[in-house]
Amino acid sequence: MREIFPAIIGNENIKKLFSEGIPAHAYIIEGPAGSGKHTIARQLCASMVCENRTSENHPLPCGTCPSCRKILGNISVDCLTISGSTKSGSIGVESVRSIRQSLYIAPNDGDRKFYIIEDAHKMTEQAQNALLLSLEEPPSFVSFFLLCESSQQILETIKSRAPVIKTELFSPGFIADHLERKFGSGDREKIAQISKICGGSLGRAESLYDSDREESRLRRCAVSFCETLLFGKKSEAAVFASSQMPQQRNDVAEVLRLSRFIVRDIIAYKKNEELIFFNEGEMYPRESVKRITVRKLLAAEDSLTKAEDDITANCAVNTVLISLVMHI
Ligand SMILES: [Zn+2]
Repeated sequence: MREIFPAIIGNENIKKLFSEGIPAHAYIIEGPAGSGKHTIARQLCASMVCENRTSENHPLPCGTCPSCRKILGNISVDCLTISGSTKSGSIGVESVRSIRQSLYIAPNDGDRKFYIIEDAHKMTEQAQNALLLSLEEPPSFVSFFLLCESSQQILETIKSRAPVIKTELFSPGFIADHLERKFGSGDREKIAQISKICGGSLGRAESLYDSDREESRLRRCAVSFCETLLFGKKSEAAVFASSQMPQQRNDVAEVLRLSRFIVRDIIAYKKNEELIFFNEGEMYPRESVKRITVRKLLAAEDSLTKAEDDITANCAVNTVLISLVMHI
């Protein structure tokens, strides 16, 4: 059997609906952020221009022919994306008028042209009315895909010309399986937690998992940095500072901020007080901690605060880090 829309996960209803072609000129694709609206829209566009669309030996769209690659890589001049202004967030009438100006111009590459309107629910009423003119009698080679989180704010007159299709929301079990397949089953507890709070959206689940991994990456970096900074040789700490720190300025500032928590925890550990940063059993070896004085730790905390301020104030990252290492 030929594979249809291979890049769309789940959403069997949508795959079935469009397996024989895209009958209407316009569709509203409704679903929460990260639920695959963009992927679905681009897969539908590609399926109409795919050079292998009549070949049973290829998936539809094939994803490898030049036409598919242009549409899926968002570099096709025949597939235009309209989004809201970053300033107001809404899509005004000017954006929609620009559609009308290009609407009757024949496609460049193939025989189809597409308009993808992102956040279509952010179109002003005036913009929606202007769009209606284009939706009423579009040229036969044009298709519209209106993406939105909720179609409630979209005028009934538009909905009567553009059927609403809803993206599938997945069960926590399905999402957990997906995350495990994609990222490995390393952190089952985290995966279970994210699969319950992502609102059924796979994209949101992935970005939550990713940002969590990013956070633990910076945390691990801070633990290693403090280890060389406080217990290692200056030369080792200098090498770490210039080769192991994150690339982004914000991330370096975050590592320094976390390092301050670590220093405070070491002080607390020496005083047998409760730890904030470290979980049980994560603290550096007791012998190393014994060797460092509270006075040195307090000075380290000050130096870390100053370095963090300097990084935030746009000073050269490497200079700040080397100066930090030398002062501890
Ligand atoms: Zn193709």
